Amino acid sequence: MSLYFTEDHELFRREYRRFVENEVVPIAAEVDGAGEFPLQVLRSLGKQGYLCIQLPERYGGASGDVMMLVVAAEEMGRASSGIDASLLVHSIISVNPIYRFGSDEQRERYLPGAAAGRLIGAIAMTEPDAGSDLASIRTTARADGDSYVLNGTKMFITNGSIADFIVVAARTGPAGHRGISLFIVDTDRPGFQVARRLDKLGWRASDTAELVFEDCVVPANSLIGELGRGFYYLMENLNLERIVMAADCLGLARAAIDQAKQYALDRKQFGRPIAAFQDIRFMVVDMESSLRAAELLTYDAAWKLQSGVDCTLEASMARYVAGEMVNRVTGDAIQIHGGYGFMMESDVQRFYRDARVMTIGGGTSQIQKEVIAKRLGLVV
Ligand SMILES: Cc1cc2nc3c(=O)[nH]c(=O)nc-3n(C[C@H](O)[C@H](O)[C@H](O)COP(=O)(O)OP(=O)(O)OC[C@H]3O[C@@H](n4cnc5c(N)ncnc54)[C@H](O)[C@@H]3O)c2cc1C
Repeated sequence: MSLYFTEDHELFRREYRRFVENEVVPIAAEVDGAGEFPLQVLRSLGKQGYLCIQLPERYGGASGDVMMLVVAAEEMGRASSGIDASLLVHSIISVNPIYRFGSDEQRERYLPGAAAGRLIGAIAMTEPDAGSDLASIRTTARADGDSYVLNGTKMFITNGSIADFIVVAARTGPAGHRGISLFIVDTDRPGFQVARRLDKLGWRASDTAELVFEDCVVPANSLIGELGRGFYYLMENLNLERIVMAADCLGLARAAIDQAKQYALDRKQFGRPIAAFQDIRFMVVDMESSLRAAELLTYDAAWKLQSGVDCTLEASMARYVAGEMVNRVTGDAIQIHGGYGFMMESDVQRFYRDARVMTIGGGTSQIQKEVIAKRLGLVV
């Protein structure tokens, strides 16, 4: 037990880690190489009750708290940050707007299936010309009798080509954030199309796609909550998203450091383990210290969120610091491995590639810094 985690959290960590070691570690390198999300992992997690754990039991969840989500993200991130990306989008980011703002009918229709791993979820906000500036999206949803007609293109959508339902941000009103609404779109609707699957540098074990909506008609009851409130609903989830993404960085960094440390002890040059050279062992010291700092920021933000305390500042700091940290740490892990670290057969090269997106996806480092600056009273 620690300051932040109870015995229940530690028990969950042990069980979840066992699952990850049995079912994810053995395939992590292979699915990265193939650029395929392993659907069987998601189905298997669903059977074990490990998806959407934050939902109440009546929707198939475990009423898990924020620290439990942190534990799951850390443990999956240690084995495969790519798989974790798909799981976070499915289990938390696509499902939470439905749970928090959707109708009872929408909850009954999507949440138990998502928690069981029968239905796969995605969330489509980003567009070719609207990334950080989400309020500038151009995808439209036009009311037409008992329906809405969606038109537009969405870019970089995780789970985009494998999803059964997608929470789509679309414009229903004037320009700016007040004109955005959220809709649930079943992917078997005519007019929905996967334009292409995107090949990536890292997170190759997650599915990423460009999506097109062309006169895609959805029933009026696909609207989540109130018209024009979509932007606010998305903002409500942001702190949790930043915290679980930071936790994914922690797991990934842990994996890289463990391997680097072991290699520094095993590898001999000049008749001594390379850990005997101060430059190498101090590199590991810096890696461990910066991971610890990011852990404490993340746990503190998670604890505040769980306790109902405003944590926008801490969540953005955690996301920013963890994202930058994991890039440095995975780069150093390659350095410690020397030429072996540069080879595709090493794990650390995968960690390094997976880390690269951590200052981009789900809000760039620059955007986190803008949020932090605002909270510090520096935006005048
Ligand atoms: C692998 C992957 C998976 C993703 N999955 C999803 C998903 O499932 N659903 C979804 O909707 N989106 C998803 N995204 C999109 C992601 O959230 C965006 O990539 C991210 O928000 C940045 O937007 P952008 O890529 O358009 O970059 P831009 O916003 O165009 O930014 C380009 C550069 O300009 C900088 N910049 C922009 N505005 C400012 C500013 N105000 N101040 C300082 N610098 C600024 C940025 O920091 C960045 O360095 C995913 C992205 C990736 C790479």
